[in-house]
Amino acid sequence: WHLARALPFYNDGKIVKWFGTNTDIDEQKQLQRQKDDFLGIASHELKTPVTSIKAYAQVLGAMLVKEREDKKAGIVERMDAQINRLTNLIGDLLDVTKINSGKIQFNRTWFDFNQAVAETVTDLQHTTQKHTLVTEFSKTGKVFSDKDRISQVITNLITNAVKYSPHADKIIIQTKKDNDEISICVRDFGIGIPPDKTEKVFEQFYRVSGSKQHTFPGLGLGLYISSEIIKREGGKIWVNSVVGKGSDFYFSLPSQQTT
Ligand code: ADP
Repeated sequence: WHLARALPFYNDGKIVKWFGTNTDIDEQKQLQRQKDDFLGIASHELKTPVTSIKAYAQVLGAMLVKEREDKKAGIVERMDAQINRLTNLIGDLLDVTKINSGKIQFNRTWFDFNQAVAETVTDLQHTTQKHTLVTEFSKTGKVFSDKDRISQVITNLITNAVKYSPHADKIIIQTKKDNDEISICVRDFGIGIPPDKTEKVFEQFYRVSGSKQHTFPGLGLGLYISSEIIKREGGKIWVNSVVGKGSDFYFSLPSQQTT
C-alpha cells in the first residue's frame, strides 16, 4: 500500500483509523490464498479416484484383449485416453497451486539434453497418428536441471503443436547449442498466433480468443507452467509465429560443463 495514504490517525496515543488500502490487500491476499488452497485440495482429491479408475480401465482392457473382444477393448482404450486427459488437467492444476504458493520443487541432475528430447518425442509419437514428429539434433551435451520437468515442458510444446495444427502432417523438433546455451525449437504448421498475443500466451489462464480457437480444448495453463519452470531453471522461453502459417516455440537453458 502507499505510505502517503496509510498515515494513521491518533487519538490519545491510540491508532483509531488507518487510511489506505492495507486491509483491502490483506483481504485480497487471504482470498487468493483460500482460492489456491481450494484448488490444491480439490485437485488432490480428484487425483485419487482418477488414478484408481485408470488402473481398473487398464485391467479391463487387458482382460478384453485376452478374450479377443476387440470392439470392447477399443472402447476401453478410448476411455483410457480420456482418463489420461483428465489426469493431465488435474496435474496442471496441482502444478499451478505449487507454483503460486512457491512450493514447486526441482530435482536436479546432469542429463543428456538430446536424449531427453528423443525419449519425450518417442513417447508422444504414439499419441498422434496424423503428425510425424521429425527430430533434427545438433550436438548439445548435458544440462543440469530437473529432467522430468524439462520433459514436461517439451511435452507441452509438442502437444500444443499437434493440437493447434489440425491440418498439418508434421512437426519439426530441433536442438542446438550456442556458446553457453542449449536450445530447442518446436515448429508447427498450424493456425499461428497474432503478434500482439505472443507474450500473453505465457500468462496464467490466457487463451487466444477467436472463432477458430474455441474449437480447441484447454485451460490455458500449459505455457504458464512451462514458462515458470524454464525461468526457474535459469532459461528463456519465447515464440515466433505467423497467423495461418504456424508457430516456432523455443526455450533455452544454460549449458554447463560437466566436471
Ligand atoms: P491451452 O492450450 O490449454 O489453452 P496453453 O497455456 O498451452 O493452454 O496455451 C495458451 C494459448 O496459447 C492457447 O489457448 C492458444 O490460444 C495459444 N497457443 C499455444 N500453443 C499454440 C500453437 N502451437 N499454435 C497456436 N496457438 C497456440
